[in-house]
Amino acid sequence: MTADALILGAGIVGAACAAELAALGMRVEVLDAQGIGGGATAAGMGHIVVMNDSPAEFALSRYSRDLWLALAPQLRTRDAFARCGTLWVAADDEESQAARAMHAAFEAQGVTAQLLDAAALRACEPALAASMAGGLRIEHDSIVYAPTVSEWLLTQSSGVEKIRVRLGTRVTAISARGVTLADGERVSAEHVIVANGLGAQQLLPSLPLQPKKGHLLITDRYPGLIRHQLLELGYIKSAHHAAGTSVAFNAQPRPTGQLLIGSSRQFDTTDPAVDMPVLAQMLQRAARYLPVLPTLNGIRAWTGFRAASPDGLPLIGPAGDFAPGVWLAVGHEGLGVTTSLATAKLLAAQITGNTAPIPVEPYLPVRFAQQVAHG
Ligand SMILES: Cc1cc2nc3c(=O)[nH]c(=O)nc-3n(C[C@H](O)[C@H](O)[C@H](O)COP(=O)(O)OP(=O)(O)OC[C@H]3O[C@@H](n4cnc5c(N)ncnc54)[C@H](O)[C@@H]3O)c2cc1C
Repeated sequence: MTADALILGAGIVGAACAAELAALGMRVEVLDAQGIGGGATAAGMGHIVVMNDSPAEFALSRYSRDLWLALAPQLRTRDAFARCGTLWVAADDEESQAARAMHAAFEAQGVTAQLLDAAALRACEPALAASMAGGLRIEHDSIVYAPTVSEWLLTQSSGVEKIRVRLGTRVTAISARGVTLADGERVSAEHVIVANGLGAQQLLPSLPLQPKKGHLLITDRYPGLIRHQLLELGYIKSAHHAAGTSVAFNAQPRPTGQLLIGSSRQFDTTDPAVDMPVLAQMLQRAARYLPVLPTLNGIRAWTGFRAASPDGLPLIGPAGDFAPGVWLAVGHEGLGVTTSLATAKLLAAQITGNTAPIPVEPYLPVRFAQQVAHG
């Protein structure tokens, strides 16, 4: 088969792009050095969340969350989709104020959200520390198991007969009309799409991507202990530190009854080993919010690397000077599961010349090329 589109990477972003292009009738070939849904997709938390740090982040995450809600009825039990909602927890009055501001911003943009006082918070999530001041509940945020959804997108979504997946296939060089594999084979296609997460750095070293290491821990089963994805309101501040190590409370109720506990962010390391002091710091932080946590059994901890761009937004569109003639769908940092489906729509619109569902400008890779050119 000679593909119309060659997609490098079978993580959630590559899989979403493949499914979208195939649904539009294109013949798609997907190459991955390992398996489907590995990389950051296997390491992540799968929280589908509307974030409002910037208008561009809001637009992409909100649109993509809606796409997830529309896709959900087709997914299988094993894809573990649940519309559990997000509960942003305010630890004190200052954070309650932040919750009110966030509520106003979300309401103004049509995102359903409810402010909770301390009593309502306790009724909603009895396991939270009694000292918590309140919170903000975002009803339609969800969770999903992204590795199996990646597989579903590539093998069961509409148009899969147009998708060919080649695993165990490392790409060593790319150009406008094709790629070179580790064994020297050359694979050509009309469009080449780089969607291999942090792996894009090896192929295109000038791309402005930086690894941001994260830790997660999963517990034994404690069904019903928490009901929402819980995040501290300080998360927004700590998650976006430009340098250094930070931790923030983030807990997810898995459909199995297990709790997934996060999160940490570390720059300047590519060591995948669990860093015990960072893990301890992360769990101590979480125990402030969930006092029962130290009595639970943690069964596994792991790390993963988010591909972070300088402005926290992904690069979706023509690679320009980074790789003339090539398309990019990379740099999704800690929101790549959430924003994968929207990424696929924006990329497909650009490739086919159709009108994009939301403005593409904030995500175009050329924004960084301009910065380089202007020093
Ligand atoms: C700890 C942690 C928690 C997170 N939590 C969330 C969350 O709650 N919500 C959310 O939305 N996002 C979250 N994320 C982010 C999300 O997981 C990522 O943004 C997303 O998975 C990126 O997907 P991807 O397809 O771009 O890349 P990846 O999943 O990394 O996939 C890239 C693929 O490319 C392949 N590849 C690489 N190089 C080559 C090559 N040269 N040749 C062939 N194949 C190659 C790899 O094998 C891999 O399969 C989290 C991430 C981490 C690390």
